[in-house]
Amino acid sequence: MIGIIGGTGVYEIVEQGRDIDFKVVDTPYGSSPEMSLFKLHDKEVVFMSRHAVGHAHPPHMVNYISNIYALKKMGVDRILATNAVGSLHESIKPGDFVVPHDFLDFTHQRKSTFYDNRTVHVDVTEPYCSQLRDILISSGQTIGEGVYVCTEGPRFETAAEVNMYRNLGGTVVGMTGLPEAVLARELEMCYASICTVSNFAASISSNKLTIDEVFEVVENKRENLIDLLSDSIMKIPADHSCECGDALEGAEVNISLESEDL
Ligand SMILES: [Zn+2]
Repeated sequence: MIGIIGGTGVYEIVEQGRDIDFKVVDTPYGSSPEMSLFKLHDKEVVFMSRHAVGHAHPPHMVNYISNIYALKKMGVDRILATNAVGSLHESIKPGDFVVPHDFLDFTHQRKSTFYDNRTVHVDVTEPYCSQLRDILISSGQTIGEGVYVCTEGPRFETAAEVNMYRNLGGTVVGMTGLPEAVLARELEMCYASICTVSNFAASISSNKLTIDEVFEVVENKRENLIDLLSDSIMKIPADHSCECGDALEGAEVNISLESEDL
């Protein structure tokens, strides 16, 4: 089953599907938002609105861990996420789509692991699913890959921070991509993101950043984003060519009482 975690304005993809149904799932971390189940291109798809209904939860208050757990419980093994981001480079413009291949995580108050009682170190050398990324890129509708910088928010970044993120190798900056990607990896799910560039980050453009600017660009690119999601879902093959499904293999510290070394 394929999961879509939608940011602002992509719910319409559900209306392209058939046999639409709705479900709320209880998790140890709270109840999920209402998810929409539907069939698209003969594939089972679940749509979840990241912020709950009507942008109820700001980025730093989203229950990421409950969201990912709920999708896993639904039987989702692949997630396509959408995120609105700011551009850190003049050459990447509002309206462009970027697919992250790596991230820099500057969040600091989000529950970011399922493993508080086991010592599990998942490998994130390649944090986003290679197979899903290839499918998104092959659409020809994105400008390519980049590094996603995640900030805690909800404020926008300072000019000095933007300069630092650029110097560290960041391509785009947003507030919702983490810990979502890592939580998916921890549950051995494939995860990739399509980032819609909604604005230039602070100091990259001269204007004051406003949320109206963000929503306007996202609204203008909504149909393209839905097409990109729909095409990608159509192209996802049954077989996995990636290693996301084995993420826990060799990741856990097993303390054996019989070990002479301990
Ligand atoms: Zn994968």
